[in-house]
Amino acid sequence: MKRNVEISGATKLACVIGDPVSHSISPAIHNSAFEFMNLDWIYSAFCVSGSNLGEAVGGLRALGVRGVSVTMPHKSTVIRYLDVLSQEAQRIESVNTIRLTQDGRLEGFSTDGLGFLNSLHDEVALDLSQSKCAVIGAGGAARAVAGALLDAQVRKVIVINRNIDNAEKLRQLSPERIVISSLPEISECDLVVNATPIGMNQLDDSQLVFDPELIAPGQIYSDLIYWPTETKTMAMCRDKGVTVIGGLSMLVHQAALAFRLWTGLEAPIEVMKKAARDQIGTDQ
Ligand code: NAP
Repeated sequence: MKRNVEISGATKLACVIGDPVSHSISPAIHNSAFEFMNLDWIYSAFCVSGSNLGEAVGGLRALGVRGVSVTMPHKSTVIRYLDVLSQEAQRIESVNTIRLTQDGRLEGFSTDGLGFLNSLHDEVALDLSQSKCAVIGAGGAARAVAGALLDAQVRKVIVINRNIDNAEKLRQLSPERIVISSLPEISECDLVVNATPIGMNQLDDSQLVFDPELIAPGQIYSDLIYWPTETKTMAMCRDKGVTVIGGLSMLVHQAALAFRLWTGLEAPIEVMKKAARDQIGTDQ
């Protein structure tokens, strides 16, 4: 990529750490934003194994890396190496963004939940207050989404997960408004969110998250998966006239919030969306 601003001794570095990261489109998304805003920043990707995580985070601090995105499998384990956590990161016990302060402290944030909400507003301008929502899955992304839905004043969140202990842990975010349920109840929900990897390429991509009989026009289906851009479940919902939102929009919105935390500037969201779509080869 030809840069407007040449890399120099003053260039600020940001990066993503995870394992694997070679498939990550975050470098394309963030570098497009730095470039568009004429910022002397560059964003790279580092594959870091679990056993090297502590040393890697210490190294990033020592090198003065200003901003770090954290992806699977380190969103929870990275917490022990940070100095301070935002309220949101504490609540959902997950960090996807690290910021290095001027005095060398590492601050941990999670932009996944708000990124999810912003993507919903961006795609369908939805008013969630008093709605009933279903979250399928109870991992890190499900916790972020459920927390964000509570903040958006939904009436009730039903959680559906294969492992009941994990569902119960998620319910503790708000025992009054979160209930553990099963798939048939999604037919009564305004919004249904898939926060499991069912439908991703490496799993059986013909697998549906739920029976087509359970969803109908008037409902919204949000799938956090962004590759493939259209899973079998998304295609099935679209065919039935259900409004569908894919995970690429959330990926861009969580990145935009990280960009603002690092630079103090509003992110050029449309530029970032285009970079994500170009990278993934879709016009959706
Ligand atoms: P995670 O912490 O590993 O949680 C995965 C959840 O999915 C767990 O609740 C697990 O159930 C459930 N699950 C896994 N395989 C399943 C299967 N075959 N059948 C039924 N349930 C299954 O992962 P995560 O970080 O939450 O990520 C979940 C998904 O969200 C991934 O596809 C990820 O790519 C996507 N994501 C997207 C974005 C975005 O910006 N678009 C951001 C974050 C995550 P158990 O509890 O029973 O094990």
